[in-house]
Amino acid sequence: MAILEVLRFPDARLRNKAMPVEKIGSEIRRIAENMLDTMYAENGIGLAATQVNIQKRVVVIDLSEKKHDPLVLINPEITKLEGCETMREGCLSVPDYYAVVERAEAIEFNYKTLENKLVTTTTDGLLAVCVQHEIDHLNGKLFIDYLSPLKRQRLQKKFDKREKQQPSVL
Ligand code: ZN
Repeated sequence: MAILEVLRFPDARLRNKAMPVEKIGSEIRRIAENMLDTMYAENGIGLAATQVNIQKRVVVIDLSEKKHDPLVLINPEITKLEGCETMREGCLSVPDYYAVVERAEAIEFNYKTLENKLVTTTTDGLLAVCVQHEIDHLNGKLFIDYLSPLKRQRLQKKFDKREKQQPSVL
């Protein structure tokens, strides 16, 4: 068990594009376990490998209230998008910031499980939003990229300021 460091915006490594997982073995299982530990420790409902500086297409999600229903998606891919809905989103990599984002309401997607089983499924609501948000991470995209240029400018300023104010920890 290990808690990994979550990269925070504006860290350029959040823009890395993750590579497909070729072999689902002990290394990927360990990565998924550590990602789940990290997500639970940070009180998140989803985490993509890109956020912990691992360039592999691995996503973990747990929408259950008691945090006992982990979902591990290896090489997830959206094959169909339908409808449109807006939801207020946040992100462990953009702390203390929330914004309304427009996404597809329902999706069809597939992924491999840790047991190397290919699953194709459809979903909507929060899980659909979460899967879209996390796959964006694997492609180097953040939810704030959907904001208007003005809002993004304000946000960038806020985070630049915050970085400058941070004391040096030696
Ligand atoms: Zn996120």
